[in-house]
Amino acid sequence: MYIGATYIGKFTDREFIFEVFDEANRYFEENGIPLRFVYLGKLELGPGYLINIPTEKGNVKGYPLEAIIEALYARLVAELQREDGLPIDRLFGLTTFPLVSRNPYFHLYERFLGIQQEITGMKVMVLSIKPFESENRTLMKKRVLKGILHELGHSFGLEHCSNECVMNPPEDIADWDSRPVAYCDSCMRKLHGALTAELLLREEKERKKGR
Ligand SMILES: [Zn+2]
Ligand SMILES: [Zn+2]
Repeated sequence: MYIGATYIGKFTDREFIFEVFDEANRYFEENGIPLRFVYLGKLELGPGYLINIPTEKGNVKGYPLEAIIEALYARLVAELQREDGLPIDRLFGLTTFPLVSRNPYFHLYERFLGIQQEITGMKVMVLSIKPFESENRTLMKKRVLKGILHELGHSFGLEHCSNECVMNPPEDIADWDSRPVAYCDSCMRKLHGALTAELLLREEKERKKGR
């Protein structure tokens, strides 16, 4: 099963994005998870979307989450409409901008760990690398990778857990660093179950189409 991968914003270190999605693919492969990220190119958002967000540390430029979700969804639909497009129904976007929302109930912890949303059966996920920034590139990559696995887990119906697991939400960054880059046994079982169910459903749809 393929998941589209894209990024939004200016990355000074673009290799970072490829490396982190590659590492996710390696994790899937090593654990027999039938998922692969495929890179779909940069996602362009018009400058008109950029807004100034007042924070404790002064004004920060950012895209409202709603605009990012919409753009990701449009990109996913465009991919599906292409003749030679990949059969994807999920798209993951990494952004350099902090995640901000017009929704006042937008939780601090979602700002940190990103968000996933389902629109007409398709799932888009977005994660900001901002909270994970570090001088230590390897450490930063691990932090982001865990964030990717966390949001992806939600997109397959996984809920938060309290084990040593990427699905265990952190109190702070130190807490996040203490998590292994892995799903716990229980979450792994649930993920495999959800994947099997989804693949079966897909096969059935294909069969019906073929008739
Ligand atoms: Zn979560
Ligand atoms: Zn777990």
